[in-house]
Amino acid sequence: MTAESIKKSFIDIFQTEPVLVKSPGRINIIGEHTDYNGGLVMPAAIDKGVYVAISKRNDQEIHLYAESFQSTCISSVAAIKKTELSWANYILGVANEFVQRGHQLSGFNLYIYGNVPLGAGLSSSAAVECATALALQYINGLSVSKMELAWLSQKAEHTFAGVNCGIMDQFAAVFGKKDHAMMLDCRSMEYEYIPLKLEGYKFVLLNTNVKHSLSDSAYNERREQCNKGVSWIKSHHPEVHYLRDADLAMLEEHVKPKDENVYLKCKYVVNEIERVKKAAQALKNGDLKELGALMFQTHEGLSKDYEVSCKELDFLVNQVKGLAYVLGARMMGGGFGGCTINVVKEQEIDALVDKLSSLYLNEFGLKLDAYIVETGIGAEVI
Ligand code: ADP
Ligand code: MG
Repeated sequence: MTAESIKKSFIDIFQTEPVLVKSPGRINIIGEHTDYNGGLVMPAAIDKGVYVAISKRNDQEIHLYAESFQSTCISSVAAIKKTELSWANYILGVANEFVQRGHQLSGFNLYIYGNVPLGAGLSSSAAVECATALALQYINGLSVSKMELAWLSQKAEHTFAGVNCGIMDQFAAVFGKKDHAMMLDCRSMEYEYIPLKLEGYKFVLLNTNVKHSLSDSAYNERREQCNKGVSWIKSHHPEVHYLRDADLAMLEEHVKPKDENVYLKCKYVVNEIERVKKAAQALKNGDLKELGALMFQTHEGLSKDYEVSCKELDFLVNQVKGLAYVLGARMMGGGFGGCTINVVKEQEIDALVDKLSSLYLNEFGLKLDAYIVETGIGAEVI
């Protein structure tokens, strides 16, 4: 759908002119499972996004319509509650966060459409939240900083969607910049724009179309293992609050003798944080080969040490290893399914996707989906 057709659909339903807001999905180039360890991540906003068309109402009611679900939801700013409709919760959760923070909201009509694939790990959920947050801020004339929009969107995902996510996705949706990645420090929330010069290459996402049930329990277990490592180090080095503050020597001395498995998990995190710094330097040097090599290393670490990969993700990464026109590849996101992110020479993309699709179908009996993404800008009023 185009911006015009979204406006038209809104008018058909609500008989009034809307304001249109767009917020992007995101990729994470490198820096996986580092956010909750106070570490570094390197997301970039993409050209696919979620559009919200919105208008104020004269009453307190909230009327929502989701194009992707052909579904309606009605609520009220005076009594916002979670609903059975999961898509609506992302929107109501954001409205609720404004109210919780003491902002006055009028009732509103909201129409939502998006072309970020749902549940693929490109963070369509943060796109919904951040588009809603910017839309509500705009029509109510509220003074809320960009960082606050990201925080309240994240909080909405915790409270109304029940997903205990970090801040990266919402940060990327709000602060994204065309042709740039962002290196975000999850300990200080400082960030730096890193120019992405992909000359002749593109990011290609390959969706395994699986989500293994281990995903949530393993996530919680990894967080505990990281915390354990930190607590063992902390008794000797009180300045260490996160794995971000630790180094390999500390892990060797205080974690390895206690628990080899916890040691491997912590080692992955400490190495990954270093890789993000190296990746930023590689991009500044225009060295895409080095970036790609780091991505392969990340996958190796996630698969062998951190143990959050799965056979489908490993298969896709192994298939592209050694191909001269694929500079790098790794699983992206929490693990146990979702997408791999690949840096592929433009002219080779179609043939590669064709070849991998049939190999993947043969091996797992599953369809492979591919998304070729460009970088995009952060949430904006159109
Ligand atoms: P991801 O963020 O990786 O895409 P999530 O499971 O976190 O996956 O979020 C997906 C959910 O977000 C969808 O199931 C839906 O509830 C909501 N959502 C995403 N895009 C849209 C959309 N265009 N319209 C309505 N709801 C959407
Ligand atoms: Mg999500």
